[in-house]
Amino acid sequence: KGERLRLPPWLKTEIPIGKNYNKLKNTLRELNLHTVCEEARCPNIGECWGGGEYATATATIMLMGDTCTRGCRFCSVKTARKPPPLDPDEPYNTAKAIAAWGLDYVVLTSVDRDDIADGGAAHFAKTVSNLKEREPRILVECLTPDFRGDLAAVEKIALSGLDVYAHNVETVRELQRHVRDPRANFDQSLSVLKHAKKVKPTRAHQDVHHARTGGDRPADTRHFRLVEEYVTPERFAHWEKVGNEMGFVYTASGPLVRSSYKAGEFFLKNLLE
Ligand code: SF4
Ligand code: SF4
Repeated sequence: KGERLRLPPWLKTEIPIGKNYNKLKNTLRELNLHTVCEEARCPNIGECWGGGEYATATATIMLMGDTCTRGCRFCSVKTARKPPPLDPDEPYNTAKAIAAWGLDYVVLTSVDRDDIADGGAAHFAKTVSNLKEREPRILVECLTPDFRGDLAAVEKIALSGLDVYAHNVETVRELQRHVRDPRANFDQSLSVLKHAKKVKPTRAHQDVHHARTGGDRPADTRHFRLVEEYVTPERFAHWEKVGNEMGFVYTASGPLVRSSYKAGEFFLKNLLE
């Protein structure tokens, strides 16, 4: 049995409680929306919700409930074979709520719903089109599941009116069977990204490579992987250089970076200039 590693100083952050943060938090409660930012107790919440030079605020909204049909070994989201059915009013209510919220950029994401024929793609796409109809100004990123490689489902979302298509490959090929649910795999995830780009080449795409070392959350049950090593900021800087040399427009590499980290800032600064 492995030993728990102590959290290194570069992963300890203060959560700044700015004016914008409090405003968003209060509105969220009133609108009954769930964000990954809060559910996952993301340490970047002060920065993302507080906004920056380019975007006033970014937040990540969770669709299709809080229970996933998969059980990845780095993820603390609840799991069930048959989660509760989708709420048919969710696309309308979520769009209404987000439009009233005053964000510049929103990330829509979801759990995996392998229990539904199209994995919830139509539901997801409807939320985007409802939101764009109400508030075309808000930039919308969809951070989608892999839909078990169902490219028709990917297409539904890619053509929904979104601005950015994102999907996490989570880890490298060598580690996937140790940390990802067996229904997910690296090549299936790449096919999702490739297809989204093929059907809508003018949209921005995030090719996200999360090379996690043994999991990104400290483990507390046997289901989870124990953290084997905390990668130092120096090594992240090295990978940033490697990513840039490979030709990525922008490489976000750092101890607290996750796919939606300051996504609005990144998009507006790098892709619209
Ligand atoms: Fe978590 Fe996504 Fe894996 Fe579900 S599919 S357990 S939400 S990482
Ligand atoms: Fe929310 Fe993502 Fe920012 Fe974390 S990194 S606060 S989950 S938008």
